[in-house]
Amino acid sequence: FLEGKKALITGSTSGIGLAVARALHAEGAAMILNGFGDESEIAELRKELGGAYYFDSDLTDVSAIEEMMEQAGGVDILVNNAGMQHVSPVEEFPVDKWDKIIALNLSAAFHTIRLAVPHMKERGWGRIINTASAHSLVASPYKSAYVAAKHGIAGLTKTVALELATSGVTVNCISPGYVWTPLVENQIPDTMKARGMSREEVIDQVLLAKQPTKKFVQPEDIGEMAVFLCRDSMANVNGANWSVDGGWTAD
Ligand code: NAD
Repeated sequence: FLEGKKALITGSTSGIGLAVARALHAEGAAMILNGFGDESEIAELRKELGGAYYFDSDLTDVSAIEEMMEQAGGVDILVNNAGMQHVSPVEEFPVDKWDKIIALNLSAAFHTIRLAVPHMKERGWGRIINTASAHSLVASPYKSAYVAAKHGIAGLTKTVALELATSGVTVNCISPGYVWTPLVENQIPDTMKARGMSREEVIDQVLLAKQPTKKFVQPEDIGEMAVFLCRDSMANVNGANWSVDGGWTAD
C-alpha cells in the first residue's frame, strides 16, 4: 500500500532501522538508506531493498544532513532512527560523548524534520516516525545523555504533531524496550564495568530485569509498528508515543 511513496530511514544499515526498511519496502515504498557499515554488505542491502539509494552521511554533522536531505529530494515517510549509547556515571561522562549523543539522537531529527516538512505539507500526506525508547518515558542510571535525548525526542514529536495536525502529516514515536541489536550488545561490556557485573548478570539483572516479559523485543516488531503508522486508517494517530517494551513502562 506504499507504492509511489519514498521513505528515508536514518540508521538503516543495522538493527531496528534495517528491520523498518525491510518492512516498508515489503509494502512497496522506495527506500533511502543511511548509516555506516561494510561497503559490500551495504551493496547487498541496496540490492535486497529494490535498488535503494544510500547516504553514508554522519548525522552528527548538520551540513551533512542538509546535503543528504537536498540530494534525497522530497520524502513522504521519514523515520528518524539513527542513535547511539554511552554508559557512564554522570561525573565521568565524557563531554564529547554527551555532545555527540544529543546531536545524533535528538538534533539530527530536528534537522531532517525541518527539511522534510515542506514537501510533505505540499503533498498533503506524510509520516514522520521517530525511534524514541522506553528511556523517553523513564530513566536508568549511567545513561544521562541518552535519556535526556530520548525524552527530548518525545517532546519534539508532540510539538511537531501539533504544528502539522491539519496538514495530512502525522508525527509519532515508537518506544522500544530492549531490542536485541548491536547497540544493546555493545553496551554490555561498559555496563559490566560500571556495575561490576558479569555478562550474564547484566543481561538478567539489568537488561531483562526491566522487561516484564523477560524477552528481548525483536527488530521486526518495530518494523510492523512503523508499517501500521503509515496506514491511511491511522491518520488520527498523531503525537503518540507507542511503547513496545514488554510492559516495562507499565510498572
Ligand atoms: P544499531 O547500533 O544496530 O544501529 C544504529 C544505526 O545508526 C546503524 O545503521 C548505524 O550505522 C547508524 N549510525 C550510528 N551513528 C551514526 C551517525 N553518526 N550518522 C548516521 N548514522 C549513524 O542500533 P539499534 O539498536 O538498531 O538502534 C536504533 C535506534 O533505536 C536508536 O535510536 C536507539 O536509540 C533506538 N532504540 C534501541 C533500543 C534497543 O534495545 N536496541 C531500544 C530503544 C531504542
